[in-house]
Amino acid sequence: MPRIVVANDQSISEAAALLQAGEIVVLPTETVYGLGANALDSDAVSKIFKAKKRPSFNPLIVHVIDKQAASKLVEMDERAQKVADAFWPGPLTLILPRKENSGISDLVTAGLETLAVRVPSHKIMRKVMKEAGVPIAAPSANSSGEPSATTPQHVAQSLGDAAPFILAAGACDVGLESTVLDLSGEVPIILRPGAVTSEDLEPYLGQVEIDMGAHEKPQSEIKSPGQLLKHYAPKIPVRLHAVDVQQDEALLAFGSIKFMGMKAGGHVKDMPDTAFRNLSESGDLNEAAKNLFMMLRDLDKPEHKAIAVMDIPNQGIGVAMNERLQRAAKKYSPKDIK
Ligand code: AMP
Ligand code: MG
Repeated sequence: MPRIVVANDQSISEAAALLQAGEIVVLPTETVYGLGANALDSDAVSKIFKAKKRPSFNPLIVHVIDKQAASKLVEMDERAQKVADAFWPGPLTLILPRKENSGISDLVTAGLETLAVRVPSHKIMRKVMKEAGVPIAAPSANSSGEPSATTPQHVAQSLGDAAPFILAAGACDVGLESTVLDLSGEVPIILRPGAVTSEDLEPYLGQVEIDMGAHEKPQSEIKSPGQLLKHYAPKIPVRLHAVDVQQDEALLAFGSIKFMGMKAGGHVKDMPDTAFRNLSESGDLNEAAKNLFMMLRDLDKPEHKAIAVMDIPNQGIGVAMNERLQRAAKKYSPKDIK
């Protein structure tokens, strides 16, 4: 079984030493738990792909301590400087042209000319990065295709012995992966929506495009390899836009459940605890985002036929939640749910 170690000075130093020695370590960040390795060390990076069963064409995000460290790895134009000053440290990843002598392993970028960089704000993550003193490649700490893990227990469930050391610091604050913003071309494009929204970015950049439907385009038009993949999917089907609960379904609610009916009779409030979660009773989108992956995983049990999900307003971080849910549901056609 993996070691789940509560973060303190000693375990932080152990995590940093493991990273320096070329091992993989699960690290807490403000977005989701990350599976980290020294981004300069190809052997170490290859262990990430193996542990996650991640296809090698899907590049990784590199985490650095500040803007200055990022500018050693990528070309930061004026736009990049502006958004870095405004949103770093925080849940914003920038795709920028990579510098030739950055030393970053080619496995990290999957052969692309660009590199994804982010400065995380999580205190424990920052302490580990400072002590390790190297850029850290870290995708989400879950088996490829599953919902990201936002608690140490969910990391352990997802990766098992493939991730032997988990530095634990409770549930992640944001609960969704970072916004991925492509600044390598003329027009800024959001390739993955997150807590930093297009409305947040536009005062700094002017118009920002959102390219979320990329998984429905021909492969030649896809900008972010991760968009090709089935993603965020629980093992059981996900049914969106639920206005009632069908026989043997679990319910992922948002806000009031007053008008939710049970197809077979009875009231939603009498559903067993194991089959019911509410993302946010008060309808708070940030609270809901923090709970999304955690609750999807809680409800992902073979005794449920599907997870019925109530609508979430498509505004602010709700845009990112809906994107994750749509991709989670996409794996199944409606006939699977009958
Ligand atoms: P994860 O590491 O699991 O949070 O996923 C990182 C996301 O960023 C994936 O969807 C990648 O495909 C995407 N990504 C990483 N590097 C690049 C890059 N250089 N260009 C475009 N997308 C990237
Ligand atoms: Mg991921």
